[in-house]
Amino acid sequence: MREDVLLKPLTTFRCGGTAKYFDEPASEEEIISDLRFARERGLPVFILGGGANCLISDKGFDGLVIKIGKALSYIDIDDKGDTAVVKAGAGILLMSFAMKIADAGFEGTEFACGIPGTLGGGVFMNAGAYGGEIKDIVRKVRFIDENLDIQEISGEELQFDYRTSVFAEMARADKIFVITEITAEVRRGNKEEIKSRISEYRERRMSSQPLDVPSAGSAFKRPEGLFAGKLIDEAGLRGYSREGSKAQVSPKHCGFIVNNGGEASAKEVYELIMDVSNKVHDKFGVRLDPEVRIIGDFGDGTRVEISSFGFKYGMPEDADLILDARSLKNPYWEPELREYSGLDKPVKKYLSGFPETGRLITGFRGAVLLASAQKHNGVFKVAVGCTGGHHRSVYCAESLAGKLRDLGYIVNVTHRDIDKDACDE
Ligand SMILES: Cc1cc2nc3c(=O)[nH]c(=O)nc-3n(C[C@H](O)[C@H](O)[C@H](O)COP(=O)(O)OP(=O)(O)OC[C@H]3O[C@@H](n4cnc5c(N)ncnc54)[C@H](O)[C@@H]3O)c2cc1C
Repeated sequence: MREDVLLKPLTTFRCGGTAKYFDEPASEEEIISDLRFARERGLPVFILGGGANCLISDKGFDGLVIKIGKALSYIDIDDKGDTAVVKAGAGILLMSFAMKIADAGFEGTEFACGIPGTLGGGVFMNAGAYGGEIKDIVRKVRFIDENLDIQEISGEELQFDYRTSVFAEMARADKIFVITEITAEVRRGNKEEIKSRISEYRERRMSSQPLDVPSAGSAFKRPEGLFAGKLIDEAGLRGYSREGSKAQVSPKHCGFIVNNGGEASAKEVYELIMDVSNKVHDKFGVRLDPEVRIIGDFGDGTRVEISSFGFKYGMPEDADLILDARSLKNPYWEPELREYSGLDKPVKKYLSGFPETGRLITGFRGAVLLASAQKHNGVFKVAVGCTGGHHRSVYCAESLAGKLRDLGYIVNVTHRDIDKDACDE
């Protein structure tokens, strides 16, 4: 365990402050003892892979950073003839994992041969390129959960989707976990064809991406049916940078934010990400969400406390902002959902199935961003209400917290009326 370790050189953005505590464990036992160390001291924990998709605040991380890297980078390819089962440590570089499988004559990992970062980070993000994604090959993932137990999940449970997984969802809900081992399955392929696909993808990447300047790849997620880079370009932002800032929209690939000369601060990068997102929203009405994970405090010290509540039990008196989720369909009126709350899967599935739910939460986020900017150095209190404080408000409070955490906000969530009678009168 080391103290005050500078994280800047450990990220591809080449910016960010120090970790109060830092360790690079070499086994699951060491990870568990790191997590215990943090738990005993009440420290927040951040798991760092290759740092290829992270923007870490200049103020650093006031807790424990656990780096999963070289020390957990084994790989075992079990050749079964037509297929192979591959077991690998989460710390292996995704590129070397992919190349080793390709070199052994198996196909399916060519897309990953140019993606920076670790295999663990790739699973977390469901990294992908050129029509391939981690989800196509990963069958099982082993991880340590917040109770320090070792878990294994597979198939549907991994909830892979575009640049997300069950792990990204767990992080959004502020859960601590460490991915340690991945099992993948690949098919035998033609060695020459595999090689030629790898070099084709490499050439495409080199000709279209600014690989000689620090960045974290695509800064934004692709909005449904659109391309972030194209929208940014059409908004006239190719090569854009804010006055006096070394952070820039790459002139070569508008989806990339680059740190010229490695001289931009994390704050400059963050402000550019927000600025570009706002400008694209103003022009096209489409909100670009960061793909980059934003870690640590980027605000002026403001923390957000969100509480769900039921209007029938009275409005919270000390809230800075009250948001109303009663326009959403009420799960209470679905008899099979009545016994659940907004924290439970069936209610989450029901509410997330309506497009207006997503729109309402995005609107809530906009309201919090605007209103909290007025309050400096304090706690900004948000209350999200529905009739009984059991279903819609709980779900919306949790989802809103996840969206704010995605933007680097430090958020705490409580549910005031979740244990009371949800009856809709
Ligand atoms: C030049 C460039 C090009 C890129 N091109 C692509 C591309 O084509 N496709 C693509 O999908 N991405 C691309 N990226 C982004 C990046 O490579 C991927 O997102 C990658 O999967 C990140 O892995 P990482 O190990 O660096 O994760 P990190 O940046 O270290 O972490 C990302 C998230 O994963 C979590 N995490 C990492 N490891 C673990 C673990 N073992 N246990 C628990 N949580 C963990 C972290 O806590 C964090 O929230 C590119 C980046 C760059 C710099």
